[in-house]
Amino acid sequence: MKAIAVLPGQKNSVHLRDVPKPKVTDVPNGRGVLARVLKVALDGTDRDIDKGEYGRAPEGDDYLIIGHESFGIVEEIGPEVTELQIGDYVVATVRRPGRSFYDNLGMQDLTSDEVYFERGINLLHGYFTEYYVEAPDYLIVVPDEFRDLGVMTEPVSIVTKAFEHTFDIQRRMGIWRPRKVAVIGAGPLGMLAAWKFRLERFETHIYSLEDKPNFKADMLEEIGAKYYSTANHNIRDYAKENGPYDIVIECSGYAPMVIDAANIVAKNGVVILTSVTPKPMKVDTLVSEINMNFVLGNKIMFGTVNASYHHFALSVRDIGYGMQLFTGWMNKMITHELNGLDQYERALYLLNNAKEEKALKIVIKVSE
Ligand code: BGC
Ligand code: ZN
Repeated sequence: MKAIAVLPGQKNSVHLRDVPKPKVTDVPNGRGVLARVLKVALDGTDRDIDKGEYGRAPEGDDYLIIGHESFGIVEEIGPEVTELQIGDYVVATVRRPGRSFYDNLGMQDLTSDEVYFERGINLLHGYFTEYYVEAPDYLIVVPDEFRDLGVMTEPVSIVTKAFEHTFDIQRRMGIWRPRKVAVIGAGPLGMLAAWKFRLERFETHIYSLEDKPNFKADMLEEIGAKYYSTANHNIRDYAKENGPYDIVIECSGYAPMVIDAANIVAKNGVVILTSVTPKPMKVDTLVSEINMNFVLGNKIMFGTVNASYHHFALSVRDIGYGMQLFTGWMNKMITHELNGLDQYERALYLLNNAKEEKALKIVIKVSE
């Protein structure tokens, strides 16, 4: 079968290759599920992998099949699979257990090991191919009515986990009533963060480089979020009037934004870091001030990566709620839908020129 792969560490090495089709018996104990891939979406992580800055091949291979945002249909199941049926639409989670204590408990998104296994990203092949086989423990069933948005489940799961952890952390307060949220970055993750916080009825401000008007700012205004362009104003100046923020979620993919995020969070507030930034970067900044404000203001900054099965399941529900509350909105995030695996070069071109091409979420339809 066909698959799209890279040679990890090598820039622009993406290519189409022929790989063996997996078998339902590849998973032991009759627990295999063979899914046909219907759609795959790309994100900033695929961009980093394409640049050769991130990602690793599975042991014994020199290539990595990319793609971690999947949507498929079950074609065959092993005799011991009771959780789902042939014909179900499914989304696969990304991380697989490694070796730490948390991995053994099925909490691999919180692994304490240095090594982590992620399909399509790190040490495991991904879903940018025709078929994959998985155990049902890693597959979330998506209702037929949600099939147009099923491929959005994985990126939504990142926001779902960030949201849940924020409230878990804030139990330290006993009572905490956040009102204002700042989202930094209006890429796919930033847009989904704004969507989630608007679903939860927060006053939501989003900061991003592009000037207004632009289609993302328009979309955000539709769901009641406010967009501020940082082309000529910095976030800190804006925040003097708009802030401070009870929650700041950094989604820009640009590491120096950590400093801005730290500088606009309210007392008792929380900064959430979600960007994966493999490229080394330095900034010269007044750390004494950040430290002082964090200490005297009981502020928190935490990082979050990946998501558990539970967050995927919650994300599917939120997608359904969002379809009712903000009808048609998430569909508009899918700005490009390409037909067939062999469109991979076009897909990466759009990903690497997202601004010029007005691309937000790029989806490849692998099969009907
Ligand atoms: C993926 C996550 C993954 C992270 C780090 C993100 O793009 O959505 O599932 O954990 O990259 O590799
Ligand atoms: Zn991702």
